[in-house]
Amino acid sequence: MSRRSSTIASVSPPQASTQPITVTQPHLPPLEEFLPYLEQIWASKVLTNGGPFHRQLEAALATYLGVPHVCLFANATIALVTALQALRITGEVITTPYSFVATAHSLLWNGIKPVFVDIDPQTFNIDPAKIEAAITPQTTAIMPVHCYGRPCDTEAIGRIADNYNLKVIYDAAHAFGVQHQGQSVLNAGDMSILSFHATKVFNTFEGGAIICQDLRTKQHIDHLKNFGFVDEVTVVATGINGKMSEFNAALGLLQLRQIDELLAKRHSIDTIYRERLSGIQGIALPEWPEEADVNWSYFPIRIGTEFPLSRDALYLQLKAAGILARRYFHPLISEFPMYRGLPSAQVNSLPNAHKASREVICLPQHPGLSTADIDHVCMSIMTASEHAKRLPLAA
Ligand SMILES: *Cc1c(COP(=O)(O)O)cnc(C)c1O
Repeated sequence: MSRRSSTIASVSPPQASTQPITVTQPHLPPLEEFLPYLEQIWASKVLTNGGPFHRQLEAALATYLGVPHVCLFANATIALVTALQALRITGEVITTPYSFVATAHSLLWNGIKPVFVDIDPQTFNIDPAKIEAAITPQTTAIMPVHCYGRPCDTEAIGRIADNYNLKVIYDAAHAFGVQHQGQSVLNAGDMSILSFHATKVFNTFEGGAIICQDLRTKQHIDHLKNFGFVDEVTVVATGINGKMSEFNAALGLLQLRQIDELLAKRHSIDTIYRERLSGIQGIALPEWPEEADVNWSYFPIRIGTEFPLSRDALYLQLKAAGILARRYFHPLISEFPMYRGLPSAQVNSLPNAHKASREVICLPQHPGLSTADIDHVCMSIMTASEHAKRLPLAA
């Protein structure tokens, strides 16, 4: 069924298009505003290696995010790999199966064994109460994820890390701009990693960053991301090429000018979804914590047993209506071939993660959505539900 032919499109404002509604869509500034930045790059011929835009973006992000130090990277995956190198993490690291696969891949790239711990069913974040039982003499760190931008229980995780002398590296790819009790959540733990990929709240086409707390650590990371070079002739570590280019850094500076407006738009979309979808039996809406300023990066809903359709049946019906909602995170990381043989990857030790992986679907959430788009998503969910309820009677 094309979106035009649906009933809601005909009663909605005319922005609705025949394009599918995707779960996310990158925001781009007006092209003409980017041209002066490109002219500067063309004039200076400084394309990378910590040029002026790179330095400006690091400073601007540190101020905007409320963090001491930002180390820009080509992407978050290289940043995760480098953070583990910078902290000399080895052996085993405790992490969550309910995330994007890059979280655990960064461990395997360092020869580290991931140890999966189940999530809290309410927050989708690693359950701190289950971490201690997973600690062994080989454990050196914890790598939690602020899933959907909701802050982890950083206090509980910090206490365990202190007691067992473990490092904490947060995969904060979803948590750009998130505050907890008036503080950036990115200051928790030893390091936090951000992603500026096209699909994220703040994008530089591709990009990422490590947030760290002291200048010496920043300098060490800056060497590591540039092959280990300290000066022209001195290489102090087996570094990698993780540098962000001037092109991406310049774009980031421009994107940062609009970020507050874009976050406000996401907030209003979140509010509209809540108005339209509250009270539907079997659908649990995301409950953002009171004490946090979240970034509305995702709108994950949970399809329970009282809903007349399974999550997967709803996913397919939405797809047929031109709505490309996504089942984040299905499959779990622990189900992929390189992880499923691990003792901690067994299904019975991760019941909450498996349940969430079966029940959650992320609805389209990005600043490019029109009211007509949101109406179409909500009406399609309600239509699917009503239709499924009538089906048994018809049969
Ligand atoms: C997007 C994402 C990454 C990877 O980010 P890239 O910048 O694409 O490398 C890692 N972890 C999580 C949780 C993500 O969502």
